[in-house]
Amino acid sequence: MREFDYIIVGGGSAGCVLAEKLTACGRHQVLLLEAGPSDRRFWVQVPIGYGILFQQKAVNWMYNSDPVPGLDGRVIYHPRGKVLGGSGSINALVYHRGQAGDYDDWAAAGNNGWSYADVMPHFEQLETPPQDDPRAPHLSVTDNSADFHPMGRDFLEICRQGQLPVCEAPTREGPGITPYLTTTRDGQRCSSAKAFLRPAMRRRNLTVMTGAHVSRIGFEGKRAQTVSYSRNGQDFKARAGAEIILAAGAVGSPQILQLSGVGDARYLQSIGIRSVHNAPHVGQHLQDHYGINYIFKSKQKTLNDVFGNWPGRIMAGMEYVLRRSGPLSLSVNQLGGLVKSSTALNRPDTQIYMNPLSYQTSQKGKRKLMKPDSFSGFILGFNSCRPKSEGTVTITSARPGELPSIRPNYLDHEDDRAEALAMARLIERLMATPALCDLLADEPMTPLDRMDDDAVLADFRQRGGTVFHLCGTCRMGPDAASSVVDNRLRVHGVEGLRICDASAFPNITSANTNAPTMMLAHRAAGMILQDRQR
Ligand SMILES: Cc1cc2nc3c(=O)[nH]c(=O)nc-3n(C[C@H](O)[C@H](O)[C@H](O)COP(=O)(O)OP(=O)(O)OC[C@H]3O[C@@H](n4cnc5c(N)ncnc54)[C@H](O)[C@@H]3O)c2cc1C
Repeated sequence: MREFDYIIVGGGSAGCVLAEKLTACGRHQVLLLEAGPSDRRFWVQVPIGYGILFQQKAVNWMYNSDPVPGLDGRVIYHPRGKVLGGSGSINALVYHRGQAGDYDDWAAAGNNGWSYADVMPHFEQLETPPQDDPRAPHLSVTDNSADFHPMGRDFLEICRQGQLPVCEAPTREGPGITPYLTTTRDGQRCSSAKAFLRPAMRRRNLTVMTGAHVSRIGFEGKRAQTVSYSRNGQDFKARAGAEIILAAGAVGSPQILQLSGVGDARYLQSIGIRSVHNAPHVGQHLQDHYGINYIFKSKQKTLNDVFGNWPGRIMAGMEYVLRRSGPLSLSVNQLGGLVKSSTALNRPDTQIYMNPLSYQTSQKGKRKLMKPDSFSGFILGFNSCRPKSEGTVTITSARPGELPSIRPNYLDHEDDRAEALAMARLIERLMATPALCDLLADEPMTPLDRMDDDAVLADFRQRGGTVFHLCGTCRMGPDAASSVVDNRLRVHGVEGLRICDASAFPNITSANTNAPTMMLAHRAAGMILQDRQR
């Protein structure tokens, strides 16, 4: 059995940041185990590849939820990255920290050290290399707005006329509709694998194993000591002298904990797993952003007119190959931001967005992104920033290869249903603006102004979907009776084990979750190194 100082499970958004930070000083031997393959794949690198990776089994876990009661029993498709870079290698590339209040709430819930003032330096260090070392590993957070579809300007005008706060310059944090910043570098995806792991892989103290599916953590008493994994059909074990760090994401981390006997002891015993530590909150408090797209037929040409035919695709392909620019180099989510659905609120409750193309997301999760609608179309969409409904991730057997049950319980909480209505009425207000009416080639496909509240909510239940921001399943909190990890991300009640990924969020952040996840990993790495020196 090989021994390392640290073993990181999961080479996703968080895992890659951890691997870089823990190996930088050269003193620690680190093993990173990732179930998926390398991210050196054409469609991972090309931003628009998002539409293809959405259903690509080779790099995607392709989970389905259990039927969701609040959505009339619909099953919701949940893509998650299974590749170096994790979900950050298949995501829509939008970079947004959320709102300062998100983190102040984390701290107010008893998580000292996680207020916005505490975490801001970590965002900044992720995003900017030190002045004396501009080539040091860092994320590229890029303003591509000069290349955005011209319809973006119409969207900003629609929002202005709808009395929403608009800013022409992109923002990293807080309220306002702006062009989105994206994690791209020179026209390519800049995931945490590219930004952090690749430079670290040159170091001799980092071992990265792809295709390594972790089945469980082995304990000696209450101390996590070993990691069992399978690779190419063979079983292996590695030993951690210092710590094991789970970074397998909001589905993978609770799954591995439960398989290892850390979870609800009674339930685990009922499916044949010996309990190591009774931790009933493992896999609880699942949160996500649930949203809806409204599709419009446009007088102006949109990206449907580029991607919907071969000449358009060939032109866009040539522009990308020759200049690394054009629609293939951009996210499909080009503008959006955080706004209040009512002026009476003290902070934004809604994220709205505009895509200058339109496609249907069917029940079975067939997102025809590269086969957009046959007309010139665009999307306005929204999701609630801080939903209160909570779900679960639970293993259903002791077999590591079996996918866990995911119950997101969307719209379970009555406040989420009320918010959905308020947000839809906000979109209705935007639909009435002269700027939007001027764009339309036809009546809106979803005539919100002619729909009563029941019809609006029924539509939201029937057509809505995940915005892919699963988190909270091993949440941070001061009390072992209501959380899984403490404010240094150590699993309550056991030793030598931390959880450093989106599953540790105490509460979902208001906007896209990739930036907060990488920040959390950056902060966690500092804590791990500090604790080693004590
Ligand atoms: C389709 C999609 C679009 C999104 N769009 C955006 C966006 O535009 N902007 C944004 O900010 N966020 C977006 N997100 C969300 C964001 O990407 C995630 O919140 C973030 O990547 C989560 O990081 P993580 O480290 O917690 O998990 P992940 O990045 O998912 O990493 C977990 C890693 O662990 C590995 N793993 C899991 N189980 C095991 C196991 N048993 N053994 C070994 N390895 C294992 C996985 O393969 C994966 O590589 C999107 C997500 C998806 C899926």
